[in-house]
Amino acid sequence: MIHTDNKLYKKLMVQKIFTLCFLFLVSILNQSCINNDLSGKSDFDIVILNGRVMDPESDLDAIRNIGIRDGSVQLITTKEIIGQTSIDAQGLVVAPGFIDIHQHGQDHENYCYKVMDGVTTVLELEMGTADVDAWYSEREGKALINHGVSIGHVPLRMKIMNDPGGFAPVSDAVYKPASDEEIILLQEGIEKGLNQGGLGVGFGLMYTPAASRWEILEMFRVAGKTKAPCVVHLRYGGQKEPGSCIAALEEVISAAAISGAPLHVVHITSLGFSQTPKMLQMISEARTNGLDVTVECYPYTATQTTIESAVYDEGWQESFGITFEDLQWAETGERLNAESFTKYRKSGGMVIAHSIPEDVVRSTIADPMVILASDGILSGGKGHPRGTGTFARVLGKYVREEKLLSLSEGLKKITLMPARRLEEIAPMMKNKGRIREGADADITIFNPELIIDQATYEEPAKYSKGIEYVLVNGVVVVNKGRLQDGGFPGKGVRGIVNDF
Ligand SMILES: [Zn+2]
Repeated sequence: MIHTDNKLYKKLMVQKIFTLCFLFLVSILNQSCINNDLSGKSDFDIVILNGRVMDPESDLDAIRNIGIRDGSVQLITTKEIIGQTSIDAQGLVVAPGFIDIHQHGQDHENYCYKVMDGVTTVLELEMGTADVDAWYSEREGKALINHGVSIGHVPLRMKIMNDPGGFAPVSDAVYKPASDEEIILLQEGIEKGLNQGGLGVGFGLMYTPAASRWEILEMFRVAGKTKAPCVVHLRYGGQKEPGSCIAALEEVISAAAISGAPLHVVHITSLGFSQTPKMLQMISEARTNGLDVTVECYPYTATQTTIESAVYDEGWQESFGITFEDLQWAETGERLNAESFTKYRKSGGMVIAHSIPEDVVRSTIADPMVILASDGILSGGKGHPRGTGTFARVLGKYVREEKLLSLSEGLKKITLMPARRLEEIAPMMKNKGRIREGADADITIFNPELIIDQATYEEPAKYSKGIEYVLVNGVVVVNKGRLQDGGFPGKGVRGIVNDF
């Protein structure tokens, strides 16, 4: 009996061990099922949980978790995921980091304000630089956000003609026609800049009125060879013929048609004023007829530039339909008169002009073709509020308060559209302006109920509200609404570099 009992006991033990082994195996398999569901990626550097993820490319607009590793988005899922760091995004919108296709201020001060406005990539394309390599190396390892530059016709003209100006030329580069030799030097400079990875060719034709139409066409021809976009501040603003904004737009649309170069027209409202709808019609028709033309505006009713530049040469009142009182001195906020205008034109500095009708700003922002950008620059806390508040203003004032655009339309104009404009010349832009697996982890997380600009003409140096978290290449640079100290995760966004 005992023997039998022993046998039975052994049999039971074997069964028990077998069952335990079986359960153990099942649990291992279960474990690997979870891993498989996560594509084998159960461990992330950062996870963003329970946010309303909005991707303007796929139109995804749903609650998702995002897993980030090695600076890129690895997984977008409804399942639970775990990371070394986790961000609770409940009640917040998780969007691609905003791309500012028109930003002049390219130093740490400006980058701090941009990132607090949700921007992860800033591009100086209108003025550009005369030395593309030097521009990128000055910022390497020292930039909070991603940055890029074009090769600029204006700075090259200043260099070749020894013009002592700063942001804008003030001497020969403004008033002297280029000789045939100088046009060749300019062309060579542009070609070199594009070969070094410049993101197109910048033009500020209003700042260089002596540059002939032929000179500009010669520059477009260089750009046309590699389909580099020509980014243009037009030759004229306002409606006064023969130098009207319509004639100015005709000049560059025709140069694009002749040369095959793509065209991007900057800040259309601050050149067109009341004529802007006609200019948008011209651009739309050119696109319908097969030309690659894009356009941008900033969401403000005032312009800003240097008072000593050619923009304020004789005739500016008639051209722009404004007078002295419409001008505001950026440094002090004071309104100008004939006397102070003359004084400041001699000393030089930034002047704001209240010259764009609000209904023009609204209809331009609402146009599905128009990209939104800032044209921003802040210097020692002084400047135009567009440099610090543009993006929160789009999403707060024009999306939430005025319902001029839906949230997804607003986001598309500050993420996907600027990325697409540049992805031919800079394939790395294909991984920006979107949230999808494989995209760069440039991500802006904001509160859609609170987001708003705070910057004013009198006090431009004010951070926007409602930007809760910002990641640049997978590094958190804004955390719970506060700028993080240290760390420079920004990378240079460059076109294809050709070493000849
Ligand atoms: Zn401009």
